[in-house]
Amino acid sequence: MKIAEIIQPDDFHLHLRDGIYLKHTVTYSSKYARAIIMPNLKPPITSIEQAKSYRNEILNINPDFNPLMTLYLNQNIKKEELKKFPDIPWLLGIKLYPSGATTHSDYGVKVSELEYFYSYFELMEKYNIPLLVHGEVADYEVDFFEREKVFIENHLIPIREKFPYLKIVLEHVSSKEGVEFVNQYDLTAATVTPQHLLLTRNDLFFGGINPHNFCLPIVKTQHDKEAIAKEVLQGNPKFFAGTDSAPHPKHKKESCCGPAGIFSAPISIELYLQFFDDYGKSFYNNYTDKDLLENKEVINRIENFLSKFGADFYGLEYNKKTISIYKQEFSIPEEYPLGNETVVPMWAGKTLKYTCYIS
Ligand SMILES: [Zn+2]
Repeated sequence: MKIAEIIQPDDFHLHLRDGIYLKHTVTYSSKYARAIIMPNLKPPITSIEQAKSYRNEILNINPDFNPLMTLYLNQNIKKEELKKFPDIPWLLGIKLYPSGATTHSDYGVKVSELEYFYSYFELMEKYNIPLLVHGEVADYEVDFFEREKVFIENHLIPIREKFPYLKIVLEHVSSKEGVEFVNQYDLTAATVTPQHLLLTRNDLFFGGINPHNFCLPIVKTQHDKEAIAKEVLQGNPKFFAGTDSAPHPKHKKESCCGPAGIFSAPISIELYLQFFDDYGKSFYNNYTDKDLLENKEVINRIENFLSKFGADFYGLEYNKKTISIYKQEFSIPEEYPLGNETVVPMWAGKTLKYTCYIS
């Protein structure tokens, strides 16, 4: 049964990888109209030329999908390229990876050398280029679950206060301190992943260690999850969808020292819908009498989160197409093909209540 139709969503944080993975990963995101494609390839994307050729590879696989590109902040970005950004509609921002913080971040910025990049931030402010931040320190001395909090306190607030006109996105917000930071400052927003809305650290350890729930920033406590959920449910425009879907082959995830990353691309819209359904019932307490997603006001909030707030922040038009949401259960597959290997999705084998198709 079709219950609603909303503007086609955007994924404001996506890892497509490259090489033989690409034919699969691009297809998995095809329910989205556009996505911000993260530049952490090997070597990373640090020039407009590289971004353009990566974009063309993606477009060759699915010309109906609009990849919005980013550069990877390090010394290799030529400053004279920054002034070209405003004329290139598909080039949306620059991503800051603290070195050591996540996949292929060894090319990233050492937090001790962040001030070197202040001259870049000044130009980004001038040309209205958003700074997308993986907001974590990677020091052994810092507790794993406090990496985001410490990065915000020691490194992000100084940047935020020194460059008040710089647009900043705290990517994949994972903590209540992250939520507070985003709410405290203008021109500051956050992407929100399905895993940070639906999982806590119990899901990493309950019944034995689960490597498929390991991502960075790591999923945290119930309090952190609730802080993020509250902003999304109440419709705060600073918080919008960005899946951080990050495929790693199954055999690597299930090995010793498995890499960080949760794969959700093909089911992520349905995961967000499930979140609204599961958590909205107690939050929107006046709608308990019927199926929550049949309520117009709830659907409007979902549409804002998935299809409008991110576009508003980046100054993009809304998508023309729509997706139709059906009350139709389906089981999440145990695995998806990934090049010559397979990848295990988030919540493999679980049943979700809704599904959607491009209208
Ligand atoms: Zn990411």
